[in-house]
Amino acid sequence: MPTRFEQYERARKVLPGGVNSSTRYNRALQTPFYASRAEAGYVWDIEGRKFIDMCCAHGAALLGHAHPAINEAVQKARELGYLSVFETTYHEELAAKVCDYIPCSERVRFCSSGSEATLHLIRACRAFTGRKKIIRIEGHFHGYHELIYIGGQPPVEAFPDNRRHPYIESAGIPPEFAELIVPIPFNDPESLEAAVSEHGADTALLILEPVNYNTGCILPDPGYLELARRLTAEAGIVLFFDEVQSAFKKSRGGAQEDFGIVPDVCTIGKSLGGGFPLSAFCGRAEIMDLYMPVGNVQHSGTFNAHLVPVLGGLAFLSEIAKPYFYPRLRELEARFHGGMDRIIEEAALNMLVPHHGARFDFLLGRKTPARRYEHTFCHDKKLMLKIYKACWERGVYFHDYGGPPCHHGYCIQHTDRDIDEVLNVLEDVLRGCREELAVG
Ligand code: PMP
Repeated sequence: MPTRFEQYERARKVLPGGVNSSTRYNRALQTPFYASRAEAGYVWDIEGRKFIDMCCAHGAALLGHAHPAINEAVQKARELGYLSVFETTYHEELAAKVCDYIPCSERVRFCSSGSEATLHLIRACRAFTGRKKIIRIEGHFHGYHELIYIGGQPPVEAFPDNRRHPYIESAGIPPEFAELIVPIPFNDPESLEAAVSEHGADTALLILEPVNYNTGCILPDPGYLELARRLTAEAGIVLFFDEVQSAFKKSRGGAQEDFGIVPDVCTIGKSLGGGFPLSAFCGRAEIMDLYMPVGNVQHSGTFNAHLVPVLGGLAFLSEIAKPYFYPRLRELEARFHGGMDRIIEEAALNMLVPHHGARFDFLLGRKTPARRYEHTFCHDKKLMLKIYKACWERGVYFHDYGGPPCHHGYCIQHTDRDIDEVLNVLEDVLRGCREELAVG
């Protein structure tokens, strides 16, 4: 087997940056993490080293790798001849389960990625309202496409201007798309009220991550989601929860169940397919029935709801419905965060590990929770990369995301010993950074 450096040199000749997803280039390692195999809560690199996997496929591997229920689903798909491009009884069975679990879901459509799901659902929201604008929240992430990769996570330098001139987050996105985006800060009732009163008549949707895992795991302030629900209902704006990450992490019904606020529509993804590419968008029947062939909104695709992910999804939703599942996730959460709280306290570190269910972020440079995007500017990205690298050297893999506060997590197959080992490694590494993380 080549070393990761040799592999990187080879891969760069045929893949831009040696990767198939820009963020797979790992800035902490200065190469991508080239994996050779994975099992349960572990991943092996191409040099044969074993790691405790705290990336868990960015939240998609909530069951861990090669879970027996998923292996069975693959075997079943094989026996059925994979049946690509057909509807089957399994599709309906999966849809019925989603509608049973997710409070806002009266109808659901499946596709492969979170980005696809937000794209298709934004289209239906526009068709439903006959309006164009999107109110979105700074720090929240909803996919990489032209409709919404604007104004979410501007660099610090571009930040103050973001609310007047939404920041275009990738070259190649025409500036005209930014004219339809209204960015506002999270957890700020006045800004939400002002945006609805100024733009409401032109606004199709308010989109948000109910838990902002993509920037410091920021939770909604009490009352904020209630306000969003009330204002959008009054203004005829579709309330859109992007639950691609939050679905299933704490409960079967997603953040809408956790916080008791039901949006009009939502996207779900990541863990839904049990590790296979499966996402979904769902919501009120009168919006969802706008899709062809009932209505006139297009959503079609060769690989939509391929049988392997559909059977993976059924296996996943059955597994999480078993009585052991959420109590065990809560045990892992309590063990990990109990340990982290102790480490932070004993070493007097200026940092937090905010969490909601099975995912958490590291936020450096503050002791009190961030409530919006700019509260995370204290986070030291370089130090974060150094921490990730030191953990990797000791056999614990956190994905780097380039260094900002972003999400990590464990899976149902992680053991108490795995969690204790991750805590030992983090304790060692963070104590080594005590000076950089000193309070004050
Ligand atoms: N929305 C949210 C809230 C996400 O966290 C992500 C992925 N991090 C996406 C959308 C995009 O999903 P995907 O990577 O599957 O396209």
